[in-house]
Amino acid sequence: MNKNLKPEIIKAGKHIKSDSRVVIFGHVNPDGDALGSTLALKHCLKDKVERVDVVLPNNYPYFLDWMPGAKEIIILDQETEKAKQTILNANLLFVCDFNDVKRGKGIEDYINVNNNVKIMIDHHPQPCDFVDYIISDTTVSSASELMYEVLTELYGETMNKEVATCLLTGIITDTGLFEHNSDSIRTFEVVAKLLQNGAEKQYIIDKIYNEKPYRRMKLLGNVLHNRLVHLPEYGTAYIYISQEDMQKYNYQDGDSQDFVNIALAIKNINFAAIFTEKENMIKVSLRSKGNFDVNEVARKYFNGGGHSNAAGGKSYKSLNQTLDMFEGLLPKYKDAILASQISN
Ligand code: 5GP
Ligand code: MN
Repeated sequence: MNKNLKPEIIKAGKHIKSDSRVVIFGHVNPDGDALGSTLALKHCLKDKVERVDVVLPNNYPYFLDWMPGAKEIIILDQETEKAKQTILNANLLFVCDFNDVKRGKGIEDYINVNNNVKIMIDHHPQPCDFVDYIISDTTVSSASELMYEVLTELYGETMNKEVATCLLTGIITDTGLFEHNSDSIRTFEVVAKLLQNGAEKQYIIDKIYNEKPYRRMKLLGNVLHNRLVHLPEYGTAYIYISQEDMQKYNYQDGDSQDFVNIALAIKNINFAAIFTEKENMIKVSLRSKGNFDVNEVARKYFNGGGHSNAAGGKSYKSLNQTLDMFEGLLPKYKDAILASQISN
């Protein structure tokens, strides 16, 4: 972690008091790091404050439902009144694993109405200034790794198994099983500490990666056979999934998780994308190998953002128009994509 953050962590931490009513937000379409960082903070604070709740804009995918505390999360688009009252009653808000109020879809309507204190704990580039304290570090693997640094700075290295399990889940999922964003020795030191505190690596991996529904495998088979477009002249491959495909395979949110990485795993492919046709938009996920910056592409063309090697966004055109638009961008980026090198 960037050592310059310590004073900010200590200043922000002074707002955590026995009479605090805390709400912790994660981002829309929550992933393992969103749940990991928010739930770990909740488990750590629950004996220290008057009240603490996690609020997410929409539901998390089924493969995270085993996480300690997942069942008690308040889902804004399902329990709007309860979420609203909980937020309005809070005097201390955390936003974890996102840095743009738009990623907290729906929360912008409530978070600025009180004299609450707002603290961001995040690892995405270019944080927006909508909070009182920004604890942001792009060098860590995940928001969960940064949360470990924050919690140990404030409360020491001993934590209960629930906290350790949530944090290790966030690190494992955001690094894709330590495939990306995990070249720093510190990440592995943090993992070692989490294991010492009772997190069970194999259990977490089995729950997320080795309990996939059969329908997802059938969808994957169809996708690889019929929906994978290989454009080696641009160093690019992409996948698309239509509403019709989803109906055919009884698609549930989370079923296409990590498909984009399969497109990226093709030799000489440095840029990969997946386009998923939702009811009112196309969800876009972008990935790259090397220094080709997909955050820029997501921001410029898909109303989104993210990291240099993993970003996402959305398109309000039809699926076909979106794919045409995407292919139309490739000549412009061709040289940068083909030149994108993995350093060693
Ligand atoms: P994914 O493609 O797995 O949904 O997201 C990859 C990365 O891009 C994550 O870090 C996520 O936070 C970011 N991301 C995904 N969708 C969006 C979006 O619509 N807006 C922004 N700003 N970031 C996104
Ligand atoms: Mn993250």
